[in-house]
Amino acid sequence: MNKKNIAILGATGSVGTQALDVVRAHPDAFHITVLTAGSNADLLIQQALEFKPESVVISDEQQYQRVKQGLSGSSIEILVGGEALIEVVQRPKVDIVLTALVGFAGLRPTVAAIKAGKDIALANKETLVVAGEWIMALAHEHHVNILPVDSEHSAIFQCLAGEADNSIERIYLTASGGPFRGKDKSFLASVTKKEALKHPNWIMGQKITIDSASLMNKGLEVIEAKWLFSLTVEQIKVVVHPQSIIHSLVQFQDGSLKAQMGLPDMKLPIQYALSYPSRLPNAFVRFDFMDYPQLNFEQPDMETFANLALAYKALAVGGNMPCTLNAANEIAVAAFLNDEVGFMEMSDIIGETMAHIPFIERPTLNDYMHVDEEARKIASKLVTKKKKVYQIEK
Ligand code: NAD
Ligand code: MG
Repeated sequence: MNKKNIAILGATGSVGTQALDVVRAHPDAFHITVLTAGSNADLLIQQALEFKPESVVISDEQQYQRVKQGLSGSSIEILVGGEALIEVVQRPKVDIVLTALVGFAGLRPTVAAIKAGKDIALANKETLVVAGEWIMALAHEHHVNILPVDSEHSAIFQCLAGEADNSIERIYLTASGGPFRGKDKSFLASVTKKEALKHPNWIMGQKITIDSASLMNKGLEVIEAKWLFSLTVEQIKVVVHPQSIIHSLVQFQDGSLKAQMGLPDMKLPIQYALSYPSRLPNAFVRFDFMDYPQLNFEQPDMETFANLALAYKALAVGGNMPCTLNAANEIAVAAFLNDEVGFMEMSDIIGETMAHIPFIERPTLNDYMHVDEEARKIASKLVTKKKKVYQIEK
């Protein structure tokens, strides 16, 4: 295998640091060309000194001097600001871009990378939620692979290896159910962010951890799966599986089911996306059947966890609706993490924002940018309104 040159967007986060663990273990397979971070200058400096990329990008302009100082004496190029992400992914010495940054911010760098013909190892699911149809068409046009990093989608992707096109009857995305599985609305009304941030099986960034607790993460994954695997909404089912051992399943048209299994460890799907189509050996802890005498399955409770129902609805409506859902969710999650609204208000904010944004059937990239901005404004106003009530009730 030729060494792959990798650009990691969001290198200092949960996925980014685990990707660097994978790269560290396989110096003959991978070279890091670009590392980027939002604002964590110290960790970016440390990573750059270890992996010696050609370039680093720090998005937060206030951290630029710090990074410059930290890397003085090295030949590493230091870029700053959001626009630099768009430029740096297009460099000739980049084979694959790992999009491990959070939220809508992932969209434009991903578009730039695809247009430059770079393969995408996609962790940033929000990109496909916002503009999945558009992105997949662009990738097709530029002969670019979109390789899923999300564990469920990596599982489906692995199950599909060697299968004929159009042989899928349906897929099952597994969901752990998060920390509030089995709880009712009155319980959820008073949960704290500390409780919501305690995921039973995975340690992840804050935004996705809240999304997992509210089941929005599974909703975003349903939308992500539709575009990655060209499915209809009806073909995508969610099943709650608290142990997170089965990472997802495909049911084929002859009724046969294939599952991809293993201990929950994001390094595996990250490594598969980076090494695809090869598999690389590793020393990750192996699954032992005797530790799991039972695997359980339940129906998701979409009545209590309304976010999952909202995501299915946004997907069924189509057009700009998933973009609106995503923007409103980003605002709602930030407000919950800021103690401005309660857990249950997040769904209200998202549902109300969806009801307010005019429908566009076939949005352009500009439309997506505009809808995202408008939806954020509406959702922010709703936060302000709900904040007062929330503070009084608290
Ligand atoms: P994280 O918060 O731990 O890390 C995010 C990284 O992106 C950091 O390096 C941060 O500096 C950078 N960043 C954040 N906002 C940015 C912005 N506006 N501009 C530039 N850089 C920015 O997040 P994470 O948990 O690693 O998740 C990253 C993405 O991967 C998300 O889309 C998430 O849904 C997806 N994902 C994560 C996991 C996981 O296990 N963490 C699993 C599946 C999918
Ligand atoms: Mg996932």
